[in-house]
This record gives sequence, C-alpha cells and structure tokens, in this order.
Amino acid sequence: MQVLLAEEYGFCFGVERAVEMVEEALAGGATVRTLGPLIHNTQETERLEAEGVRTIATPGEVERDVTAVIRAHGVTPQVQRDLEARASKVVDATCPFVTKVQKLAERAAEQGRDVVVVGNPDHPEMIGVVGYAPANSYVVRDASEVAALPWLHAPLVVSQTTLKLNTFLEAAEAVRARSDAEPQIVNTICSATRDRQDAARALAGHVEVFYIIGGKHSSNSIKLLAVCREQCERSYLIETPEEINPEDIGGAARVGVTAGASTPDWLIKQVVARLREIGARQEAA
Ligand code: SF4
Repeated sequence: MQVLLAEEYGFCFGVERAVEMVEEALAGGATVRTLGPLIHNTQETERLEAEGVRTIATPGEVERDVTAVIRAHGVTPQVQRDLEARASKVVDATCPFVTKVQKLAERAAEQGRDVVVVGNPDHPEMIGVVGYAPANSYVVRDASEVAALPWLHAPLVVSQTTLKLNTFLEAAEAVRARSDAEPQIVNTICSATRDRQDAARALAGHVEVFYIIGGKHSSNSIKLLAVCREQCERSYLIETPEEINPEDIGGAARVGVTAGASTPDWLIKQVVARLREIGARQEAA
C-alpha cells in the first residue's frame, strides 16, 4: 500500500514561523506566555504546555520576567505597547502577511482616508488591523453590509487573510459605488488555505482512501474533508494516529494524506508511520 502526501499540507508559513519563534525563546531559557492560543491544535498546544508555555488572555496577566509572544494574527498597537511595558521581552510573531495589512491601514489612516476591511469583525486579526486605523476604519463581512456605511473618502479596501476571493471582490465593488474617489483595492488574501485545498483536490482522484489530519472543529480541516470527499468517498478527518481504523483501509492500494494549517509535522509523521505499518501488516496477512 502506498501512502501519498498532498503537495501542500500542514502548517502555513505564518504558524510555522510563530512556533519556531516560541521554540527559540524557550531554548534561550525564557518563561514564555502567548497572548491567546498560539495555535488551534490540541496536541501541539499540549506539547508546548509541557515545555512550560502558557496562554494568557490579556496583557494585564503578564508577570514580570516573562517573554510575551504576539501570535500570527497580530494585535493592535495599543496592546503591543501594553505588552512591551509589562513583559521583560516581547516576541512579535505576527505573520508578515498580516503586518502588510496593518501597515496599509496605518498609512491610509495617516493620509486621512477611510479604511474598509472585509472579514469577520470579531476575529483577532481584524481587531488588530482596525487598531492601526481606529478613527476611520470599518469592518464588513460582505457586500451586503457596505450599504450601512457612511459615504467613504478615497477608501482603502483590504481583506482578512483567510477570506474567500468572491466575498472580497463583491464587497470591493460595493465600496466603489459608495466612495467619493476611486478606492485603493488591495487583495490581501493569503493563498495558504486555497493551496492546501487545491493540492488535496489534485490527489483525491488518485487514491482510494484519504486521511485529513486536523481538529474536528477546525473550519479549514472540515473544508479539506469536504474537498476530498468530492472525489474520494472514503475520506476521514482524524486528530491522532490512534483514530485510524485498519478496516477503513482494507483493500486500498493508495492512501492519501493531508493536514490542516494548524497540524504540526510530528503528528503528520506519526499518522504516515501508522498507515505504513497497517499497510505492511495487511499485505503480509
Ligand atoms: S494563513 Fe497565511 S496569513 Fe495567516 S498566518 Fe498563515 S501564512 Fe500568515
């Protein structure tokens, strides 16, 4: 039985970088606190906790002598200043793609222009971006919410990095119709999610069974499962190798594997190893 990995899977660039920055701080002997969970993966969170990493909810919880970590979603400048005032060191693991959105918003606000961000207003990434243009930014989930905005002045339109392209383009068009000048439309959607889906789709037609490794409640993992099921009925979402049922692989010559953007490499390797072991046992029987 062959085990085939999708071309793109697992940690995105920003999450991988954030985890590496935490590892580096730990290696230097720091007591590490992350503002909000660094990653939405139970197994990886437990591993980091075992290394002494704790999550805090607000900068007020920062104790003296700790290294505070800003996760990939980023924070508002105010929160960053709070952390810097309290922690002995701040590690800024904001994903560079998110930093780009923050800087665009900041510059537009300095020029006195309005900023429209398309995305979920409750998402930490959006809260951080709005913090860079607090007086004149608006978050809309989609085009339908643009009509409720005031008349806009030479607006900048940017997107949450995980947004669907159509949602962004429709909202940008709606903004154009509500502006006093041509808006500056910058597509700031990150390709990580789409790349993983495209790679899973490309492999799904060539395997008999597909395993998607990721959180059962993770929206990007659930979407990966749906993409795989379109072509491979025997697709399963699992969090750990123990969840593989050998009967599900029975008779398969090729098994595909992919993983959500928060799934660490070590967990993916464990799943691949268990699949190979089950395959070898079935072939020997
Ligand atoms: S999904 Fe994209 S923008 Fe978000 S952390 Fe990952 S690489 Fe950065």
